[in-house]
Amino acid sequence: MKYASLKKVNLNDWLGHLKKKAKLYAPRKKENLFVFRQVKEAEDVCLEYIPTVLPPKKYYFPQKEKLFKFSSQPFKTAKAIDKFEEFILFGVHTCDIAGIQCLDVVFRDAPEDPNYLNRKDKMTIIGIECLKYCDKYANCTSMGNHVPRGGYDLMMVDLGEKFIIHINSEKGEKLVTGLDYIKEASEADMGLLERVREAKKKIFKEEFIAPLPNVYNIFDKSFASPVWKDVGRRCVACGNCTAVCPTCYCFDTQDELELSLDKGVRSRVWNSCQMDDFAKVAGGEDFRKGRDNRQKHRYYRKFKYPVDKFNRYFCTGCGRCTRTCMADISLIETVNSLLAEEKLQ
Ligand code: SF4
Ligand code: SF4
Repeated sequence: MKYASLKKVNLNDWLGHLKKKAKLYAPRKKENLFVFRQVKEAEDVCLEYIPTVLPPKKYYFPQKEKLFKFSSQPFKTAKAIDKFEEFILFGVHTCDIAGIQCLDVVFRDAPEDPNYLNRKDKMTIIGIECLKYCDKYANCTSMGNHVPRGGYDLMMVDLGEKFIIHINSEKGEKLVTGLDYIKEASEADMGLLERVREAKKKIFKEEFIAPLPNVYNIFDKSFASPVWKDVGRRCVACGNCTAVCPTCYCFDTQDELELSLDKGVRSRVWNSCQMDDFAKVAGGEDFRKGRDNRQKHRYYRKFKYPVDKFNRYFCTGCGRCTRTCMADISLIETVNSLLAEEKLQ
């Protein structure tokens, strides 16, 4: 079976089934925002949502994570985490799946990251395709992530009274087989899916004023652009834009010692290139001084450096950085200003 169909009236039955299989995380409403949380009641799951405050990254790259235990007398180290549990991420947008694909590339690059790889092994991804824009901040179409591009086990599309589910892995297939309320998709379902996708083409339009290869090229010429001065002048260096980004993965390490001072735990905690002290080294030297330079670095880490290194853009188009910025710095506006500058020359 390649495509299955599930009536909406049976969605909660399926969520109950998934909950028995593994820890289940899904989006739910929290005041006027959305967050990924463990599902306790199927009714709490919300599939019509704008990107959650934090991406599901927090489940496979936690904000604070124990790396290893150590003792000094005698000197020994030991794993801090013994067991990784199976978990399902449910209702993940295609932009956030692209974020998982980015971190997959990073954490598989030598030296591999065992904590991430162990978690990834236990992770099942059930996506949902957006059929309309979440809001004006998203740039998913320019990034090509408004449509599914792999990286999931199952992908749901809302066809009105039912969901059609694309089965993309054996792991995913096991979660839809043997259930009398999930059936193989009919020809009529497939026809409807095609029409829904056609209608979607009229809604999603590129947000940048030039195609993606031009965006990449512009970063070759924009290192001294006045755009960075303007962005740096407005930025308050809160670090929110990087904390919410599904593809930022910088971290700091911290040692916590017991009172005896001969035993402890080393952890890693998320850090951000936007913090004033991030690039400070011994002697007080700062090799990325000023908010303009740090903002510039953030953009180069999305549109230039990872393309050179991994052949992948590290902006998924989720729009979180713009949505969260208290200085109203917009990623779409910044990239378009760089592109517009080039046109004027
Ligand atoms: S969220 Fe906005 S103000 Fe805060 S560091 Fe990022 S760009 Fe600067
Ligand atoms: S740079 Fe902004 S829009 Fe792009 S992936 Fe990060 S948070 Fe999302």
